[in-house]
Amino acid sequence: MNHQPFETWIFAQEDLNEADRLALQQHLEACQACRSLQEKWESLHEELQAPAMLAPRAGFTRRWKAGLAEKRLREQRRQAWKVFLTFSGATTAVVLVMIAYALLTSTPAEWVQAAMRTVTETVGTYSAVRELTTAWMNLTPLGLNIVIWIALGVTFCILAFIWVYAIWRTAFAGVWNK
Ligand SMILES: [Zn+2]
Repeated sequence: MNHQPFETWIFAQEDLNEADRLALQQHLEACQACRSLQEKWESLHEELQAPAMLAPRAGFTRRWKAGLAEKRLREQRRQAWKVFLTFSGATTAVVLVMIAYALLTSTPAEWVQAAMRTVTETVGTYSAVRELTTAWMNLTPLGLNIVIWIALGVTFCILAFIWVYAIWRTAFAGVWNK
């Protein structure tokens, strides 16, 4: 196919008369090579109109950054899950080994004995702690006790606040970065 004069006309379309414009249009519809040249010329024109392109580019950069932050967050969550699952799996394995070992080396009667002993010891520890606390409360002045209760309460509130804040940040981080 003969591409002239159409190849030249593509670069000077403003100067063409109506008949030439129509002839070029018909050639473009029939010729793949010239059509691709025309498209390249058009996209170059658009590229050169920099001020018009600035706004979409800024939007694109912002969206790209948001996408990156989201990807990073997803990666962090996946890592957290991986650690959690690994620890859970390891703990389960240890418990299973302990149960298997107990089944192999002892009898049910011994388990009951061990359970009873554990309960007794726990109760013993609990009453010991309570007695110790009561004794301490009786020995120390009231003002000191109140100060210590307030300190414990404030510490608890701060810890609870940090915990809630951490969960909140994790849950809404993706929304904020958009
Ligand atoms: Zn052509």
